[in-house]
Amino acid sequence: MSAAAPRVGFLGLGIMGAQMASRLVGTGQNVMVYNRSVAKAEPLRQLGAAVASTPAEVTSTCDLVFAMLADPKAAKAVAMDGPDSAVAGIAARPASAKPVTYVDCSTVDAATGEQVGNAITAAAPRTGFLAAPVSGGWRDARDGTLLFLCGGHQTAYEAAVPGLDAMGSRRWLLGSTPGDAARAKLMLQVMMGNIVGSLAEMMALSKAAGLDEAAILEVLGESAMANPLCKAKGELMRKNDYKPNFQVYLQQKDLRLALQLADDLGVPAPISAASNGQYIRARQMGFADKDFAAVRAAYEAEVMSEPETEDA
Ligand code: NAP
Repeated sequence: MSAAAPRVGFLGLGIMGAQMASRLVGTGQNVMVYNRSVAKAEPLRQLGAAVASTPAEVTSTCDLVFAMLADPKAAKAVAMDGPDSAVAGIAARPASAKPVTYVDCSTVDAATGEQVGNAITAAAPRTGFLAAPVSGGWRDARDGTLLFLCGGHQTAYEAAVPGLDAMGSRRWLLGSTPGDAARAKLMLQVMMGNIVGSLAEMMALSKAAGLDEAAILEVLGESAMANPLCKAKGELMRKNDYKPNFQVYLQQKDLRLALQLADDLGVPAPISAASNGQYIRARQMGFADKDFAAVRAAYEAEVMSEPETEDA
């Protein structure tokens, strides 16, 4: 890595962001990172990244900036809130500086994507914005095999390509607005939330029926319903191993956003609504920060509760 190489910025070092930023460092980029909780930036510092104390420091220094934040509230806070925000850093750059391209990889709703995109592009002339939520987990981020679902102008997309290709194996420009990417990503999250909800239901039912859970999962794995998600999450459910990969609070956020979209469009989404209720229940049971396989606990709660007697 050359100290003179242009810096790539990274905002948000959670489970995904830490791996994505590490991947950028590992592929030879000159990286500057920011995270709200400073301790999470320390491993990146050890790898050779510069650590900023505000989003503005990153966007005032770097021409290409990626963000990977929890939800709409976080994406807006980092991009737009106050003198430390990404927008403020872009506005503070000298007029002669290269225009910034800001790439938001967070999973958000279309309205948030448009709002953040408008604020970023209004901060200084020729600033680019790309929404680029991802499919894939932290291992894909580590290995550079994420799938990027992009929405924005072609120029912003092309400016982002070196970073996207360092962190991912496939990318699609799905439309010219951030909302195009946001809506597409929510389609995947509907499937994911419902598949894992359905798996949790099967596991709770298997247990209540006195079946061998390992055997049921083995048969499932050989059947027409086999898929990598059920294989991975079924094993975690069987072992009650809920160390976070993708957390319950994030899957529930995605179903909430998808249900809002369905409501706006007048599309019934009864399966997602039922799954969402179970993820909410898992949150209430204290599993918010656990892997979303822990939604099994919400189905167990149903199974374990005592049936009411006739005269109760
Ligand atoms: P995470 O581990 O919970 O990290 C969330 C990040 O957002 C942290 O950097 C956190 O900062 C930051 N944040 C939260 N609220 C904030 C606020 N108000 N102001 C500033 N920063 C804030 O989540 P993750 O798993 O990395 O997921 C990040 C995004 O990727 C989410 O949109 C998620 O839906 C999506 N995603 C996740 C996966 C996955 O497998 N995990 C896969 C695909 C997509 P602190 O450290 O200070 O809390």
